[in-house]
Amino acid sequence: MASQPMLLITIDGPAGAGKTTVSKMLARELGYRYLDTGALYRAVAVGARAAGIQPDDDRGLGELCKTLRLSIEGDRLVLNGVDITHRIRSPEISMLASAVSARPVVRQALLGFQREMGRTGGLVAEGRDMGTVVFPEADFKFFLDATVRQRALRRLAQYDKGEGPTLEQIEQDIRRRDQNDSSRDIAPLRPADDAVTIDSTTMTARQVVRSMMARVRRMIDPA
Ligand code: C5P
Repeated sequence: MASQPMLLITIDGPAGAGKTTVSKMLARELGYRYLDTGALYRAVAVGARAAGIQPDDDRGLGELCKTLRLSIEGDRLVLNGVDITHRIRSPEISMLASAVSARPVVRQALLGFQREMGRTGGLVAEGRDMGTVVFPEADFKFFLDATVRQRALRRLAQYDKGEGPTLEQIEQDIRRRDQNDSSRDIAPLRPADDAVTIDSTTMTARQVVRSMMARVRRMIDPA
């Protein structure tokens, strides 16, 4: 695809809708880079927890964000020189990430980093506000959705049998995060007006990617 345009593609949606799997597959198929913006908010949560900063302490969060050195090295997320890839996925960090992401000081601090990643195109960016706030000019916007039950089942499948939370706990967590993410004043979770919504409840990741690729190809090569 070397001579093709390097598009900027956004994928937003609620927790557990399959954004990460689908975004990585789509990026691989197109030969693009991939940006998981949820991981950035999770990194702030890890930093806040380590420093004992409460999620409603805007001053503390502001100071923290000034000293954060975040980098993405392949599949690794590195915070101030420490690989935190395996520390960001716990239920506790998920809830904390949701809380700190509602603070304007945190969103503002991460905005430049995200936009810089998208500057040259050739990127699939996933999150909650990619199409609405961070990249309103994106070439293609998707909103990926699924029922709460289906999203919880997918999360459950990521744990080893007998390990981790129950289906009911996961559902409860997802509902709370959906509520937080959709009701906040700043950059609430919602599809951009020009986003294509895909309900993945009964679809495999491959089917979702195929449907996305069909649309993207039509844009790259309308003939
Ligand atoms: O996508 P993921 O579940 O890893 O995101 C963790 C949390 O980060 C979300 O619950 C959401 O509150 C926040 N987030 C956000 N904006 C984004 C990406 C994630 O507010 N663009």
